[in-house]
Amino acid sequence: MNVYVEVQALLPNKTPVTKKVKLGVDPVSRPQGLDFRPLYDAGDIAGASARRFSCREATWGLDGWARRKTYEVLRDFTWLLFNDVSLEHGGFPGHATHGTGVAFDARYPGAGGNGNALNTTPSTRRTILTQARDGDLARQQQIVDWILQVRGNISQLLNDARVRRVLIGRGVNDRTNARLASHWNWNAIVDGRYEPLPNGTATEIVNPATGLPIGAWAHTKLMRADQHLGHIHVDVNK
Ligand SMILES: [Zn+2]
Repeated sequence: MNVYVEVQALLPNKTPVTKKVKLGVDPVSRPQGLDFRPLYDAGDIAGASARRFSCREATWGLDGWARRKTYEVLRDFTWLLFNDVSLEHGGFPGHATHGTGVAFDARYPGAGGNGNALNTTPSTRRTILTQARDGDLARQQQIVDWILQVRGNISQLLNDARVRRVLIGRGVNDRTNARLASHWNWNAIVDGRYEPLPNGTATEIVNPATGLPIGAWAHTKLMRADQHLGHIHVDVNK
């Protein structure tokens, strides 16, 4: 007796695709169990190559394989600079939550994209924050403008029903993997405070243009994470 399984999927342009396979002919080992939901290659999105900040795992079909909703979020938010979605057949060694096409990492969405070290390099971000905290007015304005833009763009994601949550990293230096005692990244972007001084005082970040503190920012879908200091992590609903 031959047993067949038939799976139909809709491409993003709504074209149906049907696959029929004979069970037992091509045994497939899937560490995450059988999941017939298709993944779409975010590399197909117009302009995607300029928006991906790494194309890891080339021998595994690259790292841009996304569930339909994830694909559509990446397509619709054209300012997202992303990587590490899932591999072509799911899974992502070393990235436990990136295995099923519903999570991706993205640069911090301040102005300047990959050319702005505030978006890309946590060590530089921390240096500029420290200079601002210690009284450099130009740095204060730079960091305030950056935080307000980052909050505005991430709010667009958080307010999208397809997005489940956005993670903001804290105490790990992504370059050295050293765990930091301070939550400076979350403190600045979400709480609106500079890294505490040695005496424990955490001063508010003040906008030099208005003389007013930028204040705290909150959203039910915004979460603090132990990892991801250098980038944001986005989970999309299945
Ligand atoms: Zn991630």
